[in-house]
Amino acid sequence: MDIPFYYRTLDWQKLVADYPPAPHFFDGVWSWPRERIEAMQTERMRAAVARAWDTPFYRRRWSAAGVHPGDIRTLSDLSRIPYYTVDDIRESIALSPPYGDYQGRPASAVANEPLRVFWSGGTTGEPRPTLYTQWDREVGAILTQRMYYLHGLRPGDVVLNNWAFSTHNGAWMYDHALHHWLGCLNITTSTGNVTPTEKQLMFASKYRAASILSWADHLVYMANLAKELGYDLKRDFAIRTLPTFGNPLPVAKAWDCPSYEAYGFHEVQVVSAECDAHAGLHVFEDAFIVEVVDVDTGEVLADGQTGNLVLTCLYKTGNQHIRYNIQDLCRIVSRERCACGGTHLRTDRFLGRSDTMVKLRGINVWPEACGKVVLKDDRAGGEWFSYAETVHTPRGDVDELTIMVEHRPGVGDSEALREHLEDRLKIEIGLRIRVQVVAPDALRPLTGLGTDRPKPKRFEDRRRKA
Ligand SMILES: [Zn+2]
Repeated sequence: MDIPFYYRTLDWQKLVADYPPAPHFFDGVWSWPRERIEAMQTERMRAAVARAWDTPFYRRRWSAAGVHPGDIRTLSDLSRIPYYTVDDIRESIALSPPYGDYQGRPASAVANEPLRVFWSGGTTGEPRPTLYTQWDREVGAILTQRMYYLHGLRPGDVVLNNWAFSTHNGAWMYDHALHHWLGCLNITTSTGNVTPTEKQLMFASKYRAASILSWADHLVYMANLAKELGYDLKRDFAIRTLPTFGNPLPVAKAWDCPSYEAYGFHEVQVVSAECDAHAGLHVFEDAFIVEVVDVDTGEVLADGQTGNLVLTCLYKTGNQHIRYNIQDLCRIVSRERCACGGTHLRTDRFLGRSDTMVKLRGINVWPEACGKVVLKDDRAGGEWFSYAETVHTPRGDVDELTIMVEHRPGVGDSEALREHLEDRLKIEIGLRIRVQVVAPDALRPLTGLGTDRPKPKRFEDRRRKA
């Protein structure tokens, strides 16, 4: 009897030698001197650039820019390659529907090798497919496993996975990493639409889950709901750590346990993760090269400056991502050895999207930065939403940004809270930004929290287009 090809098509020894999972990774590559990390990156970059040249998308774009793979020898040569954005992916799909000409494999290759497909951007535009080879899935799972290990999960832990099992990659990847690579027992609930949140809390309590995996805001919501339902978070649960995406501080406070932030996106899985030192997010540099570029000019910025994250993925064998300008704001905070011993460079936590940037009175303002300011106040709930609009004034039309925030139950004077938050924004952002304080849960229809959205919606552009 033949063993199915899933178990025969991969060189598993090479896989773990090239991309060691935890704990081996943390005993070795994690604390390599930077010269050694960069030598490995250089070698892997050249191979990735050569693979990309075989993809019509890159050959078309690089030829137009007069760049040839042979020109890219050192890490500093990389910036000679033009970056691409989601708009270029949309154009690629329009040129060659429905998969686009950026795929590294035709979908029909699935007859001979295991391939998976997931989509991103389904809630904000045309869904964009990514085909993953088996190697790419397994390395992605190893990166995810490293993140969970770094955040305190261990073999034998029971873990509740609340992410949406849908056309988006996230939930599937966490499941794969914990099941195949870490040795955890997964309680697969998906979102509240599939398994009501009350029932999820029952599962987490009854089976002594060590962790619940969800978006940061949702973890805060679950803590509040649990208390309303009469649970004692310490006595009735065994939650030990809450790895998340989004701001971990309100999560740690709500559950009174450690919470950690990580960063990643659909096409490449986990890029970076916080360590116990909470001193920035370490990029897994054996798998990625990170650059930060000026939002307007595209020039590579020095460490410490904020700009768009441009990512080059080193490990993938199917789709290539060479200088993908993901338009998430980022800042490199250090390339020095961290208190945890790690030498992989650290970035700031997620600072916002450059494409939701609002220019107010000549100053660039990011709604996410405003959201962080209002949530620092204990009287504000976990939920916020923002919108930009064009307001007619005697001096002409001006753009205004409004931050809506839910107050916590029992907060008496919401008018005083509004004034206080506007003052805080004035101090921290440097501009008068309007605040609307609304009742608990009032923002759910706007954020889509608790639905199948992979991330809550935080911003709506209601400005009149010129
Ligand atoms: Zn560290």
